Amino acid sequence: MIHIPKDHPRYQSLVTRERIVDGVESGITSVTGLIAQGRGEAFDYLIGECTTPSARAAERIAAAMLLLARTPVISVNGNAAALVPGELVELSILLDAPLEVNLFYRTEERVLKIIEHLKAHGARHVLGADPDASIPGLSSERGRVCSEGIYSADVVFVPLEDGDRCEALVAMGKLIIAVDLNPLSRTARCATVPVIDNITRALPNIIDSVRELKGQPEVYLQEIVEGYNNKKGLDAALETICNNLMEHSRSQ
Ligand code: ATP
Ligand code: MG
Repeated sequence: MIHIPKDHPRYQSLVTRERIVDGVESGITSVTGLIAQGRGEAFDYLIGECTTPSARAAERIAAAMLLLARTPVISVNGNAAALVPGELVELSILLDAPLEVNLFYRTEERVLKIIEHLKAHGARHVLGADPDASIPGLSSERGRVCSEGIYSADVVFVPLEDGDRCEALVAMGKLIIAVDLNPLSRTARCATVPVIDNITRALPNIIDSVRELKGQPEVYLQEIVEGYNNKKGLDAALETICNNLMEHSRSQ
């Protein structure tokens, strides 16, 4: 990784970008992952590169939903593996939920590299090498899943999801928690709980909330989940973006 001075005003964003570049170079992330990251950066810029109060609330609700789940699964793609491998493993251990590698641009080699990468960060068992089931109505490679993982999960955590698969998973009756900086994407619109935040901030926050809520009675967790409204979360993100733009234009 190239050296980025800590006092650079956009240090965090540049470090994140470099992690994706490293992921591409080591074969974990696909080249198109760079484009997805660029799109995410643009929305993060508009959101203010910080976790908004509404995103933080969605992260706590996501934690409660994952704790209530009977068979939660954490789906991992090449960008997520490059950006937050340690946090994905930590979440999986805290929830006792399997990690499952699921790629749009799937190659056996990349799946195995991601599994090795997650194991190097402490993961014990990672699914995804031998998918034996299909998500109905999804023809892309992302439709291939494991019957003991995503296929039978009741709640799926899908950071950086593709809209098609999010829709197909919701159609299967699953509860979907997505992390996506774009409040206009199909993923954010169809997820049960869209978390409009950078995955590098969202994962540590969700982990903190899981630690806070673990051991709380089910009724308490259910109250948190029931208070959620997908549309309100998306509207709050759009409002933040509009306000930031207005402020920029006033300060010109
Ligand atoms: P959709 O398929 O949901 O309509 P899309 O086709 O616009 O969305 P994809 O390329 O499928 O987008 O997925 C990339 C998504 O991930 C983008 O919406 C982008 O904003 C988001 N994204 C990229 N990097 C990050 C990140 N670090 N944290 C959170 N979200 C991110
Ligand atoms: Mg897409």
